[in-house]
Amino acid sequence: KLHNTILELKGNIRVFCRVRPLLPDDNAGTETTVISYPTSTEALGRGIDLLQSGQKYPFTFDKVFNHEASQQDVFVEISQLVQSALDGYKVCIFAYGQTGSGKTYTMMGRPEASEQRGLIPRSLEQIFQISQSLQSQGWKYKMQASMLEIYNETIRDLLSTNRSSTADMMRTESGVGGKQYTIKHDANGNTHVSDLTIIDVCSIKEVSSLLHQAAQSRSVGKTQMNEQSSRSHFVFTLRISGVNEGTEQQVQGVLNLIDLAGSERLSKSGSVGDRLRETQAINKSLSSLSDVIFALAKKEDHVPFRNSKLTYLLQPCLGGDSKTLMFVNISPDPTSIGESLCSLRFAARVN
Ligand code: ADP
Ligand code: MG
Repeated sequence: KLHNTILELKGNIRVFCRVRPLLPDDNAGTETTVISYPTSTEALGRGIDLLQSGQKYPFTFDKVFNHEASQQDVFVEISQLVQSALDGYKVCIFAYGQTGSGKTYTMMGRPEASEQRGLIPRSLEQIFQISQSLQSQGWKYKMQASMLEIYNETIRDLLSTNRSSTADMMRTESGVGGKQYTIKHDANGNTHVSDLTIIDVCSIKEVSSLLHQAAQSRSVGKTQMNEQSSRSHFVFTLRISGVNEGTEQQVQGVLNLIDLAGSERLSKSGSVGDRLRETQAINKSLSSLSDVIFALAKKEDHVPFRNSKLTYLLQPCLGGDSKTLMFVNISPDPTSIGESLCSLRFAARVN
Protein backbone atom coordinates (compact mmCIF):
# COMPACT_ATOMS: atom_id res chain seq x y z
CA LYS A 1 0.00 0.00 0.00
CA LEU A 2 1.35 3.42 -0.90
CA HIS A 3 -0.01 5.62 1.79
CA ASN A 4 -2.84 5.21 4.20
CA THR A 5 -5.20 8.06 3.48
CA ILE A 6 -7.68 7.26 6.22
CA LEU A 7 -7.04 7.78 9.89
CA GLU A 8 -7.42 4.44 11.59
CA LEU A 9 -9.46 5.50 14.55
CA LYS A 10 -11.55 2.44 15.17
CA GLY A 11 -11.25 -0.18 12.49
CA ASN A 12 -12.36 0.13 8.93
CA ILE A 13 -16.10 0.56 9.30
CA ARG A 14 -17.76 3.96 9.35
CA VAL A 15 -21.43 4.88 9.56
CA PHE A 16 -22.74 8.22 8.28
CA CYS A 17 -26.35 9.27 8.74
CA ARG A 18 -28.08 11.62 6.29
CA VAL A 19 -31.50 13.18 6.79
CA ARG A 20 -33.10 14.41 3.61
CA PRO A 21 -35.18 17.63 3.49
CA LEU A 22 -38.94 17.54 3.94
CA LEU A 23 -40.54 17.28 0.48
CA PRO A 24 -43.87 18.72 -0.68
CA ASP A 25 -45.41 15.22 -0.75
CA ASP A 26 -44.39 14.46 2.83
CA ASN A 27 -46.85 14.78 5.68
CA ALA A 28 -46.62 17.82 7.93
CA GLY A 29 -45.10 17.33 11.36
CA THR A 30 -47.03 16.54 14.49
CA GLU A 31 -46.01 17.51 18.00
CA THR A 32 -45.27 13.97 19.10
CA THR A 33 -42.91 12.87 16.35
CA VAL A 34 -39.80 14.90 15.65
CA ILE A 35 -36.31 14.25 14.43
CA SER A 36 -33.78 16.69 15.83
CA TYR A 37 -30.06 17.24 15.57
CA PRO A 38 -28.26 18.75 18.55
CA THR A 39 -26.28 20.95 16.20
CA SER A 40 -29.26 22.15 14.23
CA THR A 41 -27.41 25.20 12.95
CA GLU A 42 -24.73 23.12 11.26
CA ALA A 43 -25.18 20.83 8.30
CA LEU A 44 -22.79 18.34 9.82
CA GLY A 45 -22.69 16.93 13.34
CA ARG A 46 -22.44 13.55 15.07
CA GLY A 47 -25.66 13.17 17.00
CA ILE A 48 -29.25 12.64 16.01
CA ASP A 49 -32.23 12.38 18.36
CA LEU A 50 -35.48 10.84 17.38
CA LEU A 51 -38.51 11.78 19.43
CA GLN A 52 -41.57 9.60 19.34
CA SER A 53 -44.58 10.11 21.64
CA GLY A 54 -42.53 11.90 24.28
CA GLN A 55 -39.82 9.26 24.23
CA LYS A 56 -36.34 10.35 23.16
CA TYR A 57 -34.04 8.00 21.22
CA PRO A 58 -30.51 9.42 20.93
CA PHE A 59 -27.97 8.08 18.38
CA THR A 60 -24.38 8.94 17.60
CA PHE A 61 -22.63 8.16 14.32
CA ASP A 62 -19.30 9.02 12.71
CA LYS A 63 -21.11 11.86 10.97
CA VAL A 64 -24.67 13.09 10.74
CA PHE A 65 -25.70 15.26 7.78
CA ASN A 66 -28.87 17.23 8.23
CA HIS A 67 -31.36 18.31 5.57
CA GLU A 68 -29.20 21.25 4.58
CA ALA A 69 -26.12 19.22 3.68
CA SER A 70 -25.42 19.50 -0.03
CA GLN A 71 -24.09 16.74 -2.28
CA GLN A 72 -20.74 18.52 -2.18
CA ASP A 73 -20.80 18.66 1.66
CA VAL A 74 -21.28 14.90 1.68
CA PHE A 75 -18.65 14.22 -0.98
CA VAL A 76 -16.00 16.22 0.86
CA GLU A 77 -16.33 13.76 3.74
CA ILE A 78 -15.87 10.66 1.58
CA SER A 79 -13.35 11.79 -1.02
CA GLN A 80 -10.36 10.42 0.92
CA LEU A 81 -12.04 7.06 1.20
CA VAL A 82 -12.66 7.05 -2.56
CA GLN A 83 -9.07 7.99 -3.21
CA SER A 84 -7.81 5.07 -1.15
CA ALA A 85 -9.14 2.75 -3.89
CA LEU A 86 -6.43 4.28 -6.12
CA ASP A 87 -3.88 3.41 -3.43
CA GLY A 88 -4.89 -0.24 -3.65
CA TYR A 89 -7.60 -0.57 -1.04
CA LYS A 90 -10.89 -2.36 -1.44
CA VAL A 91 -13.69 0.04 -0.62
CA CYS A 92 -17.44 -0.45 -0.18
CA ILE A 93 -19.91 2.40 0.23
CA PHE A 94 -23.51 1.42 0.96
CA ALA A 95 -26.73 3.43 1.10
CA TYR A 96 -29.25 1.90 3.53
CA GLY A 97 -32.76 3.10 4.32
CA GLN A 98 -36.43 2.80 3.53
CA THR A 99 -37.70 3.63 0.04
CA GLY A 100 -37.94 7.41 -0.36
CA SER A 101 -35.29 8.20 2.25
CA GLY A 102 -32.70 9.46 -0.25
CA LYS A 103 -30.45 6.46 -1.04
CA THR A 104 -30.47 6.96 -4.80
CA TYR A 105 -30.18 10.73 -4.38
CA THR A 106 -27.09 10.18 -2.23
CA MET A 107 -25.51 7.63 -4.58
CA MET A 108 -26.51 8.89 -8.05
CA GLY A 109 -28.17 12.23 -7.33
CA ARG A 110 -29.92 14.04 -10.11
CA PRO A 111 -27.52 13.69 -13.03
CA GLU A 112 -29.34 16.43 -14.97
CA ALA A 113 -28.46 19.04 -12.31
CA SER A 114 -24.71 19.39 -11.95
CA GLU A 115 -24.61 20.49 -8.29
CA GLN A 116 -26.97 17.63 -7.40
CA ARG A 117 -24.71 14.91 -8.79
CA GLY A 118 -24.41 12.15 -6.24
CA LEU A 119 -21.36 10.37 -4.95
CA ILE A 120 -21.08 7.84 -7.79
CA PRO A 121 -20.46 10.48 -10.50
CA ARG A 122 -18.36 12.60 -8.12
CA SER A 123 -16.22 9.63 -7.06
CA LEU A 124 -15.59 8.62 -10.66
CA GLU A 125 -14.65 12.16 -11.64
CA GLN A 126 -12.17 12.28 -8.80
CA ILE A 127 -10.68 8.89 -9.62
CA PHE A 128 -10.12 9.73 -13.30
CA GLN A 129 -8.76 13.16 -12.44
CA ILE A 130 -6.28 11.89 -9.86
CA SER A 131 -5.21 8.89 -11.93
CA GLN A 132 -4.39 11.28 -14.77
CA SER A 133 -2.41 13.60 -12.56
CA LEU A 134 -0.42 10.60 -11.26
CA GLN A 135 0.76 9.87 -14.81
CA SER A 136 3.48 12.45 -14.36
CA GLN A 137 4.85 10.27 -11.52
CA GLY A 138 4.96 7.22 -13.77
CA TRP A 139 1.61 5.68 -12.82
CA LYS A 140 -0.49 3.93 -15.42
CA TYR A 141 -3.98 2.86 -14.41
CA LYS A 142 -6.41 0.43 -15.95
CA MET A 143 -10.06 0.68 -14.87
CA GLN A 144 -12.84 -1.81 -15.38
CA ALA A 145 -16.50 -1.29 -14.57
CA SER A 146 -19.36 -3.70 -13.97
CA MET A 147 -22.89 -3.08 -12.79
CA LEU A 148 -25.31 -5.62 -11.49
CA GLU A 149 -28.52 -5.94 -9.60
CA ILE A 150 -29.38 -8.56 -6.99
CA TYR A 151 -33.06 -9.31 -6.92
CA ASN A 152 -34.55 -12.25 -5.02
CA GLU A 153 -31.02 -13.61 -4.44
CA THR A 154 -30.47 -13.67 -8.21
CA ILE A 155 -27.84 -11.64 -10.04
CA ARG A 156 -28.81 -9.63 -13.10
CA ASP A 157 -26.14 -8.12 -15.35
CA LEU A 158 -27.08 -4.52 -16.07
CA LEU A 159 -24.52 -4.12 -18.85
CA SER A 160 -25.46 -7.22 -20.77
CA THR A 161 -26.32 -6.42 -24.37
CA ASN A 162 -28.49 -9.50 -24.37
CA ARG A 163 -31.51 -7.56 -23.13
CA SER A 164 -33.15 -9.80 -20.60
CA SER A 165 -36.35 -8.91 -18.87
CA THR A 166 -37.22 -9.22 -15.22
CA ALA A 167 -40.06 -11.54 -16.21
CA ASP A 168 -37.47 -13.87 -17.81
CA MET A 169 -35.35 -13.65 -14.72
CA MET A 170 -38.21 -14.60 -12.47
CA ARG A 171 -38.97 -17.66 -14.58
CA THR A 172 -35.47 -19.08 -14.24
CA GLU A 173 -33.93 -19.38 -10.81
CA SER A 174 -30.42 -19.31 -12.20
CA GLY A 175 -30.74 -16.12 -14.23
CA VAL A 176 -31.53 -15.50 -17.86
CA GLY A 177 -30.62 -17.68 -20.81
CA GLY A 178 -29.02 -20.30 -18.61
CA LYS A 179 -26.48 -17.80 -17.30
CA GLN A 180 -25.42 -18.81 -13.84
CA TYR A 181 -23.52 -15.75 -12.63
CA THR A 182 -21.57 -17.98 -10.29
CA ILE A 183 -19.46 -16.07 -7.77
CA LYS A 184 -15.87 -17.21 -7.18
CA HIS A 185 -13.05 -15.63 -5.20
CA ASP A 186 -9.47 -16.47 -6.11
CA ALA A 187 -6.46 -16.70 -3.81
CA ASN A 188 -5.51 -13.06 -4.53
CA GLY A 189 -8.84 -11.81 -3.24
CA ASN A 190 -10.21 -11.10 -6.70
CA THR A 191 -13.86 -11.81 -7.36
CA HIS A 192 -15.03 -13.45 -10.56
CA VAL A 193 -18.68 -13.56 -11.52
CA SER A 194 -19.10 -15.90 -14.49
CA ASP A 195 -20.81 -14.36 -17.55
CA LEU A 196 -20.80 -10.86 -16.03
CA THR A 197 -20.02 -8.06 -18.47
CA ILE A 198 -16.87 -6.16 -17.48
CA ILE A 199 -15.95 -3.09 -19.50
CA ASP A 200 -12.64 -1.24 -19.73
CA VAL A 201 -13.21 2.43 -19.05
CA CYS A 202 -10.81 5.31 -19.69
CA SER A 203 -12.89 8.40 -19.04
CA ILE A 204 -15.78 9.72 -17.00
CA LYS A 205 -17.74 10.02 -20.25
CA GLU A 206 -17.47 6.28 -20.86
CA VAL A 207 -18.62 5.40 -17.33
CA SER A 208 -21.47 7.91 -17.53
CA SER A 209 -22.81 6.22 -20.61
CA LEU A 210 -22.56 2.83 -18.88
CA LEU A 211 -24.43 4.22 -15.86
CA HIS A 212 -27.08 5.45 -18.25
CA GLN A 213 -27.27 2.02 -19.87
CA ALA A 214 -27.59 0.36 -16.44
CA ALA A 215 -30.35 2.76 -15.39
CA GLN A 216 -32.17 1.97 -18.63
CA SER A 217 -31.79 -1.73 -17.99
CA ARG A 218 -33.13 -1.36 -14.47
CA SER A 219 -36.17 0.60 -15.57
CA VAL A 220 -37.08 -2.13 -18.08
CA GLY A 221 -37.68 -4.29 -15.04
CA LYS A 222 -39.40 -1.51 -13.17
CA THR A 223 -42.32 -1.22 -15.58
CA GLN A 224 -42.86 -4.97 -15.50
CA MET A 225 -42.53 -5.35 -11.80
CA ASN A 226 -43.92 -2.73 -9.52
CA GLU A 227 -41.07 -0.48 -8.38
CA GLN A 228 -38.59 -3.29 -8.79
CA SER A 229 -35.57 -1.01 -8.54
CA SER A 230 -36.32 -0.26 -4.89
CA ARG A 231 -36.68 -4.01 -4.22
CA SER A 232 -33.22 -4.90 -5.54
CA HIS A 233 -29.64 -4.06 -4.61
CA PHE A 234 -27.66 -2.10 -7.21
CA VAL A 235 -23.92 -2.80 -7.17
CA PHE A 236 -21.49 -0.66 -9.15
CA THR A 237 -17.94 -1.99 -9.16
CA LEU A 238 -14.80 -0.27 -10.44
CA ARG A 239 -11.64 -2.38 -10.49
CA ILE A 240 -8.47 -0.33 -10.54
CA SER A 241 -5.02 -1.72 -11.43
CA GLY A 242 -2.10 0.62 -11.29
CA VAL A 243 1.53 0.05 -12.22
CA ASN A 244 4.39 2.48 -11.83
CA GLU A 245 6.70 2.30 -14.81
CA GLY A 246 9.59 3.78 -12.86
CA THR A 247 9.47 1.92 -9.57
CA GLU A 248 7.50 -1.13 -10.82
CA GLN A 249 5.17 -0.81 -7.85
CA GLN A 250 1.74 -2.30 -8.43
CA VAL A 251 -1.61 -1.60 -6.82
CA GLN A 252 -5.00 -3.26 -7.19
CA GLY A 253 -7.95 -1.45 -5.69
CA VAL A 254 -11.70 -1.93 -5.91
CA LEU A 255 -14.45 0.61 -5.41
CA ASN A 256 -17.95 -0.79 -4.79
CA LEU A 257 -20.85 1.64 -4.61
CA ILE A 258 -24.08 0.01 -3.51
CA ASP A 259 -27.64 1.34 -3.51
CA LEU A 260 -29.41 -1.19 -1.28
CA ALA A 261 -32.99 -2.36 -1.57
CA GLY A 262 -35.52 -0.46 0.54
CA SER A 263 -35.36 -1.57 4.16
CA GLU A 264 -39.07 -1.05 4.89
CA ARG A 265 -41.02 -3.86 6.42
CA LEU A 266 -43.99 -4.59 4.22
CA SER A 267 -47.35 -5.05 5.86
CA LYS A 268 -47.97 -8.71 6.44
CA SER A 269 -51.39 -8.71 4.81
CA GLY A 270 -49.98 -7.30 1.56
CA SER A 271 -47.16 -9.81 1.36
CA VAL A 272 -48.29 -12.87 -0.54
CA GLY A 273 -46.79 -14.91 -3.37
CA ASP A 274 -44.00 -13.10 -5.28
CA ARG A 275 -44.16 -10.12 -2.97
CA LEU A 276 -43.67 -12.28 0.10
CA ARG A 277 -40.74 -14.09 -1.52
CA GLU A 278 -39.26 -10.75 -2.50
CA THR A 279 -39.62 -9.37 1.04
CA GLN A 280 -38.04 -12.46 2.53
CA ALA A 281 -35.09 -12.17 0.13
CA ILE A 282 -34.55 -8.50 1.01
CA ASN A 283 -34.85 -9.12 4.75
CA LYS A 284 -32.43 -12.00 4.48
CA SER A 285 -29.79 -10.06 2.58
CA LEU A 286 -30.05 -6.90 4.68
CA SER A 287 -29.87 -8.85 7.93
CA SER A 288 -26.94 -10.87 6.53
CA LEU A 289 -25.18 -7.62 5.69
CA SER A 290 -25.76 -6.39 9.22
CA ASP A 291 -24.51 -9.71 10.66
CA VAL A 292 -21.36 -9.59 8.51
CA ILE A 293 -20.48 -5.99 9.36
CA PHE A 294 -21.23 -6.63 13.03
CA ALA A 295 -18.98 -9.72 13.08
CA LEU A 296 -16.20 -7.78 11.33
CA ALA A 297 -16.49 -4.85 13.72
CA LYS A 298 -16.32 -7.21 16.68
CA LYS A 299 -13.42 -9.07 15.03
CA GLU A 300 -15.22 -12.37 15.40
CA ASP A 301 -13.58 -15.51 14.04
CA HIS A 302 -16.55 -16.56 11.99
CA VAL A 303 -18.02 -14.01 9.59
CA PRO A 304 -21.17 -15.35 7.91
CA PHE A 305 -20.43 -14.12 4.37
CA ARG A 306 -22.20 -17.02 2.71
CA ASN A 307 -25.65 -16.27 4.06
CA SER A 308 -26.59 -14.02 1.13
CA LYS A 309 -25.55 -13.30 -2.47
CA LEU A 310 -24.68 -9.70 -1.60
CA THR A 311 -22.32 -10.49 1.27
CA TYR A 312 -20.74 -13.39 -0.61
CA LEU A 313 -20.18 -11.22 -3.69
CA LEU A 314 -18.53 -8.50 -1.59
CA GLN A 315 -16.63 -10.82 0.76
CA PRO A 316 -13.08 -9.80 -0.27
CA CYS A 317 -14.07 -6.13 -0.13
CA LEU A 318 -15.57 -6.32 3.37
CA GLY A 319 -12.94 -8.22 5.35
CA GLY A 320 -9.21 -7.77 5.85
CA ASP A 321 -7.89 -4.25 5.49
CA SER A 322 -10.72 -3.12 3.23
CA LYS A 323 -12.77 -0.04 4.09
CA THR A 324 -16.52 0.11 4.51
CA LEU A 325 -18.81 3.09 4.79
CA MET A 326 -22.53 2.78 5.40
CA PHE A 327 -24.88 5.69 4.81
CA VAL A 328 -28.10 5.37 6.71
CA ASN A 329 -30.63 7.56 4.94
CA ILE A 330 -33.50 8.97 6.95
CA SER A 331 -36.76 10.58 5.86
CA PRO A 332 -37.98 13.45 8.10
CA ASP A 333 -41.60 12.59 7.26
CA PRO A 334 -43.30 11.99 10.67
CA THR A 335 -45.25 9.04 9.26
CA SER A 336 -41.88 7.37 8.61
CA ILE A 337 -40.76 7.65 12.22
CA GLY A 338 -41.13 3.92 12.88
CA GLU A 339 -39.00 3.03 9.87
CA SER A 340 -36.49 5.75 10.74
CA LEU A 341 -36.07 4.29 14.22
CA CYS A 342 -35.50 0.83 12.68
CA SER A 343 -32.90 2.25 10.28
CA LEU A 344 -31.05 4.09 13.05
CA ARG A 345 -31.04 0.96 15.20
CA PHE A 346 -29.71 -1.08 12.27
CA ALA A 347 -26.94 1.45 11.75
CA ALA A 348 -26.16 1.74 15.46
CA ARG A 349 -25.65 -2.02 15.59
CA VAL A 350 -22.90 -1.94 12.96
CA ASN A 351 -21.37 1.35 14.15
P1 ADP B 1 -34.65 6.13 -2.21
O1 ADP B 1 -33.64 5.84 -3.28
O2 ADP B 1 -34.14 5.87 -0.83
O3 ADP B 1 -35.94 5.44 -2.46
P2 ADP B 1 -34.64 8.77 -3.36
O4 ADP B 1 -33.19 9.00 -3.43
O5 ADP B 1 -35.31 8.38 -4.63
O6 ADP B 1 -34.98 7.69 -2.24
O7 ADP B 1 -35.30 10.06 -2.73
C1 ADP B 1 -36.70 10.27 -2.67
C2 ADP B 1 -37.00 11.69 -3.15
O8 ADP B 1 -36.38 12.62 -2.29
C3 ADP B 1 -36.48 11.97 -4.53
O9 ADP B 1 -37.38 12.81 -5.19
C4 ADP B 1 -35.17 12.71 -4.27
O10 ADP B 1 -34.81 13.55 -5.34
C5 ADP B 1 -35.49 13.48 -3.01
N1 ADP B 1 -34.31 13.68 -2.15
C6 ADP B 1 -33.67 12.74 -1.43
N2 ADP B 1 -32.65 13.25 -0.72
C7 ADP B 1 -32.62 14.57 -1.01
C8 ADP B 1 -31.78 15.66 -0.60
N3 ADP B 1 -30.77 15.48 0.25
N4 ADP B 1 -32.06 16.89 -1.10
C9 ADP B 1 -33.09 17.07 -1.96
N5 ADP B 1 -33.91 16.09 -2.39
C10 ADP B 1 -33.68 14.85 -1.93
MG1 MG C 1 -33.81 4.47 -4.87
